[in-house]
Order: sequence, then C-alpha cells, then structure tokens
Amino acid sequence: MDTTTNADPQELAKFSELAHRWWDPDSEFRPLHQINPLRLEWIAGFVPLSGKRVLDVGCGGGILADSMARRGADVLGIDLAAKPLKVAQLHAMEAGTASVSYREVAVEALAAESPAAFDVVTCMEMLEHVPDPSSVVRACAALAKPGGWVFFSTINRNPKSFLFAIVGAEHVLQLLPKGTHEFARFIRPSELVGWCREAGLDATATRGLEYNPITRRYWLSADTSVNYLIACRKPG
Ligand code: SAH
Repeated sequence: MDTTTNADPQELAKFSELAHRWWDPDSEFRPLHQINPLRLEWIAGFVPLSGKRVLDVGCGGGILADSMARRGADVLGIDLAAKPLKVAQLHAMEAGTASVSYREVAVEALAAESPAAFDVVTCMEMLEHVPDPSSVVRACAALAKPGGWVFFSTINRNPKSFLFAIVGAEHVLQLLPKGTHEFARFIRPSELVGWCREAGLDATATRGLEYNPITRRYWLSADTSVNYLIACRKPG
C-alpha cells in the first residue's frame, strides 16, 4: 500500500489509536454515532439505497458503511488506517451485517482500478484530514457511475467554525480529543463546490449540521457555517 500518495500518517495514527472504541456510542466517536441517522436519512432521501453498489471513502470503523448495508446496499468501505478497518470488519461479523466489506486502499488507486463502478459514493468527515482533498473529490467522481450520486461532509473554515468545532468541541465540551481537527484544513463550501465542478459533478444540495450543547442533540439545518454536507450528481 502506498500511503505517500495523499495521506497524512499522523492523521491515520490518531484514528488507529482510538479504533478499539469506535463502536462505543459514549466514546470519542459519540458525535459520529449521533449524526449517523441524520446523514443516512439525508442520503436515502436522494437515492434509495436498497440494491445499490455503494462505496464509503474514509469509512473508519464503519458506522455509516454498516448502516447503509443494513438498508440493503452492497457496500465497500475503504480507509488507509488499518486498525479502524479491522474494527469495522469485526463489527460486521459480530452484528451479522451482510453485504459490507472493507479494504485498505487509497481512493485514487481504487479509481484507477475500477472507474464508474458505484451507484453511490460517500465520503464523510474525511476530507479535512487529507493533504490534497481535491484529489479525493476527483477520485470519488471517477468512481461514481454516470447518473450516480456522491456525498461529502466536512467542516467550514471561518471564525465561527474555529470557535465551535475546535474551541467548543475539543476544549470546552470535550466531545472530541484535542487535536482532532486542524483549522487550516477546514474547507469552505465554495471551495468544495469548486472541486466538485472541476471533477465533473453537479452539486445539487447543501445542508448544515448543528449541535445544541444543552440538549446534546444534532439536527440538519440551512446553516452551513460549521459542519455541512453536500450532495452531488454525476451527469448521466
Ligand atoms: N467516514 C467515517 C469516519 C470519519 S473519521 C464516518 O464519518 O463515520 C475520518 C476517517 O478518515 C478515519 O477513519 C481516517 O483513518 C480516515 N482517513 C484519513 N485520511 C485518509 C486518507 N488519506 N485516505 C483514506 N482515509 C483516510
């Protein structure tokens, strides 16, 4: 495996270190567990997942990949961190999730190997951990079939997102370990939409993801100033 392509070894190590707690809903991964039903419903609102060939890029321990497989999709999860992938595989075995498999491969390499192979490509909470996110966007676009869907989520870059996603989430509320996110790697929606367009994708919808620290609940909204998701269509 070639991790020199487009991966930060320190980022991968961070996720590997915590991997054994991935499926503990009260662990560092609580935010991913909490947002998963929201993003799953949002995706399924664009494209019914049953019977679809789905790729989850940067799948980690498989929270989203597993839930899409449980909706009847045939899911491949890929990541470059070995331990989260092992945890994902073990979870699938224990939970008896059919039709999900996992592979350690770079998205760019998979795009060269099997272009236009997937009805749906998801890439959630991953772009902000990668040295060249536009290369990931291009690879995701190449992996989608014509007429297929590509979904991204990441974190906006502005003073509010610094305050909420780093100061608030990591230091005040301690929802995430300190150092989980680096401000400079956050991505403005306009930047992401630009990379999508350059990759031949039509960005069709954007949604914000908000958090209330009092109720400890997340919800989707029109406010994309901190966490947000983008739905793209590859022209048929
Ligand atoms: N997408 C999952 C996990 C998000 S955590 C979810 O939303 O539930 C971020 C994941 O991105 C980690 O599993 C990390 O190992 C992975 N990652 C970071 N850099 C990567 C890269 N260059 N290629 C593939 N995966 C990467």
